[in-house]
Amino acid sequence: MSINIAVDGPAGAGKSSIARAVAEEIGYIYVDTGALYRSIALYSIENKLEDESLINSLDKINIRLEFIDKCQHVVLNGSDVSDKIRTPDVSMRASRVSAIPKVREFLFGLQKKIAAENNIIMDGRDIGTVVLPNADLKIFLTASAEERASRRFKEMTDGSITYEQVLEDIKQRDYNDMNRAIAPLKQAEDAVLLDTTGMTINEVKQKLKSMIYETEKSRG
Ligand code: C5P
Repeated sequence: MSINIAVDGPAGAGKSSIARAVAEEIGYIYVDTGALYRSIALYSIENKLEDESLINSLDKINIRLEFIDKCQHVVLNGSDVSDKIRTPDVSMRASRVSAIPKVREFLFGLQKKIAAENNIIMDGRDIGTVVLPNADLKIFLTASAEERASRRFKEMTDGSITYEQVLEDIKQRDYNDMNRAIAPLKQAEDAVLLDTTGMTINEVKQKLKSMIYETEKSRG
């Protein structure tokens, strides 16, 4: 049976960089589920679809995850959109489309299938609560909104957005993600809380690795 590690938490908590690096070191597949919601968001922006028309178009959307050297690529209707989905516009639209129950349903099966077939670290908002309620280990990774905004801001080197705007976007997305009716962002009861405010990436990585090691040991 495959080993499943769920990492949930708000935007900018470091989920993806940490989960990706740890997965690579321990030979697991890293699955970034935010990329799936982002791809739907990109589709809705490019095709000028509002919520209702997006729902009616879901059957025209084909999303595949490909793992090249264990690195995730998202393929939307045949095109690799892995880079295109990383803009602030797509982030904000992803937060909106992810509140649509039919969109979540649409992506649910794909996430379950990948987890059943591989040793994975899967990151998202509802992995421990909804997608993989029986995950072997659940982590809730968070940090203060200011620290998360500052980390995101440092990644955006093209000068297109100010720190204040990044902080505003983060707070807005936190609010959307935590207050939506379906699969809101929240810590699963059996998740371990890891607040990374003031921790270095290396410290968080080590902590996560040792928790996974303990989990593997207890699985035998
Ligand atoms: O993780 P990332 O910031 O790329 O996710 C983009 C958006 O997709 C989030 O703001 C959230 O609204 C949504 N999302 C979700 N459930 C997940 C992963 C992401 O609702 N499992």
